[in-house]
Amino acid sequence: MFIVLWGALWGSFLNVVVYRVPAGLSVVHPRSRCPKCETPITWWQNIPVLSWAFLGGRCHTCKTWISVRYPLVEAAMAVLALAVAWPWLPGILNGDVPLWQGVTGVLAEQAFVFVLLAIALIDADTFLVPDSLSLPLPILGLGLAFALGPVRGVTWQQSAAGALAGGGGLLAVQWLYAVLTKREGLGTGDVKLMAGIGAFLGVQALPAVLLAAAVQGLLFVGGWALVGRGKLAEDRGLASIRHLAMPFGPFLALGAVQWLLLFRMAGKLLAHWS
Ligand SMILES: [Zn+2]
Repeated sequence: MFIVLWGALWGSFLNVVVYRVPAGLSVVHPRSRCPKCETPITWWQNIPVLSWAFLGGRCHTCKTWISVRYPLVEAAMAVLALAVAWPWLPGILNGDVPLWQGVTGVLAEQAFVFVLLAIALIDADTFLVPDSLSLPLPILGLGLAFALGPVRGVTWQQSAAGALAGGGGLLAVQWLYAVLTKREGLGTGDVKLMAGIGAFLGVQALPAVLLAAAVQGLLFVGGWALVGRGKLAEDRGLASIRHLAMPFGPFLALGAVQWLLLFRMAGKLLAHWS
């Protein structure tokens, strides 16, 4: 229960980050305000999910509709915070994992998921991955591997190799894509993001993360093309859906979160049954 609340608060802050970082504003100052009438939001209007439901999805002062994305992001972060902490809990509670290591691991992985979600939303909004979010990831990932290493199943060697292979691998893909199509395909933001994912999850995670991102990205574009029947491409003045620029960052982030949550869960189950 405490972890869900903790995650929802993270989600609330995430909305602030996603709104302000691309605009180059400070994330701590001033207080959150309604984007329309600029009335500061009081504490009781700022309770994750509940306030939005209580206010009927409108600003208390000017009655402007508030996007449903805010409570959705808060709820998603609450669920993710719990999902990240869950596999750690038995080890922490029965003393297999020292408390400081467990707490550090949980907080760092929650921060990792938080930054990935922020990058995914900002990339989907603006097609940019802000350096202020992507650059700390490799450093945090390497630091965590040094500090905890075997506890998380990622040694510092795997972390360092992951950062190099992730960043370098995506640079190579980018170069190949540019040579073959004579177009810029992926942003350099994706390279830094992939270096961060590699540092956090270790080099062993990269093939699965890349594959999951590519498959799901293609499925998404394909599904969109089917549903929209080219309307989307038309709307944007493009000859066909193939020319649609798609941010790849959200799918890389998705693949990384899936690895973090599903792979570890699968490992736990296997260990349990064997
Ligand atoms: Zn308002």
